[in-house]
Amino acid sequence: MAGATMDKIVSLCKRRGFLFQGSELYGGLQGTWDYGPMGAELKNNVKRAWWRANVYERDDMEGIDASILMNRLVLRYSGHEATFSDPLVDCRKCKKRFRADQIDPNEKCPEGGAHNLTEPRPFNLMFKTTVGPIENDNNIPYMRPEMAQGIFVNFKNVLDSTNRKLPFRIVQIGKAYRNEITPKNFIFRVREFEQMEIEYFVLPGTDEEWHRRWIADRVAWYHQYGIRPGNLKLYVQPPEELSHYSKATTDLLYRFFPEREEDKQFDEVEGIANRTDYDLTCHTKGGKTAFKDGSFLQNEHAVFKQTYFDQPTNTHLIPYVIEPSGGVDRITLAFLMDSYEEQVTEGKERTVLHLHPDLAPVKVAVIPLARNRPNMVEMAKRIKRELQSAGRLRTLFDDSGNIGKCYARQDEIGTPFCVTIDHLSLEDQQVTVRHRDSMLQDRISVDALQRYIEDRLA
Ligand code: ATP
Repeated sequence: MAGATMDKIVSLCKRRGFLFQGSELYGGLQGTWDYGPMGAELKNNVKRAWWRANVYERDDMEGIDASILMNRLVLRYSGHEATFSDPLVDCRKCKKRFRADQIDPNEKCPEGGAHNLTEPRPFNLMFKTTVGPIENDNNIPYMRPEMAQGIFVNFKNVLDSTNRKLPFRIVQIGKAYRNEITPKNFIFRVREFEQMEIEYFVLPGTDEEWHRRWIADRVAWYHQYGIRPGNLKLYVQPPEELSHYSKATTDLLYRFFPEREEDKQFDEVEGIANRTDYDLTCHTKGGKTAFKDGSFLQNEHAVFKQTYFDQPTNTHLIPYVIEPSGGVDRITLAFLMDSYEEQVTEGKERTVLHLHPDLAPVKVAVIPLARNRPNMVEMAKRIKRELQSAGRLRTLFDDSGNIGKCYARQDEIGTPFCVTIDHLSLEDQQVTVRHRDSMLQDRISVDALQRYIEDRLA
């Protein structure tokens, strides 16, 4: 039994249509990946599972969908324009560029010997673009580097339109853009990615307790969807690592690199920060953006105040906020890696993704045993249509090879059930259901099939 490595996952993803290099036909575009048919389904299922847990199953939330293009003032007053940078170094010999805190000290320069590096200098990660036909300094917006700012600048709009009391949350899933110095490790570090973010607004003074609760809540979500506890751990950021807005941040780390030596196997999949009242203090009429070095920026542009009226104390206050922020792509990668297994059973090898059924791209594959038998094919297609029409079960008709090949293919994309139509099925209206994980098979009547599968997916 062997588990995943990043290389094995990259190869499976290409082979089975989960992910392709962005713009591959033209030599690629570094830091971009395109989700193929299986990848798009898996990623959508990850987002759906997150939205269900954080929106549908709670009574204290609102979901929004803000613009990717943002007025540069949003990112100026958030502090990103001045501080959202990574330390960049150049090698004077080979001219390659690196992120200073990520360079491998053992890496050799292609020009010979060690790299000859410049002093680190800040490199801002935000993508600028232009809006409208005339280019000037005033119409340069940024593409958002995170979900959070779209939520903070809409705090008052959401509050006024929903009449919420603290604590409550605003959540968002969407694309974010960062001009990473060295995108690498497949979809772990890319320049275009998606985030799932929660901003949980609380009364000042209750923030530390809510921070603790959110860390526990988020860990439980990963476990619920099958991440093995030993592959996830917490990292409490020391004060010198904290972002300018954070009072405390705990990162959830996943074992993305099991092939590395022990202390280099884990890296961040999600960050959970206590952002205090920092952001709403920046984004409000007459507000103030404070920086780590003691300097600050007075807000001269916001057109209204963003405060909360607390009835019990009869005061206008600025809520604190707890932010769990996860990357959809990294989370999808974690589920792929965690569910991957190479097995040898009775002398036969197979690769299987033991994905949680809610996440599996396809729930059922319907396979005719002989693809040259029109009756059998017709029966298989009818069963596929019926299972699919209920809406919940993503079902595929698969006649792409012999039965062994179909099973192998479905195991590799994590399909929990294969339904096979054979010669006898035409007479007795019964089909064989094969289970992905145990490989056990049951004979079920067609009438009872949908119920049988739904009961086992619940
Ligand atoms: P890192 O330290 O790895 O650069 P970060 O601390 O800057 O990440 P955050 O700003 O906390 O990341 O973003 C929240 C989440 O968004 C991260 O936990 C990660 O899952 C995801 N994320 C951030 N940058 C990238 C990226 N370049 N590619 C893919 N996912 C990303």
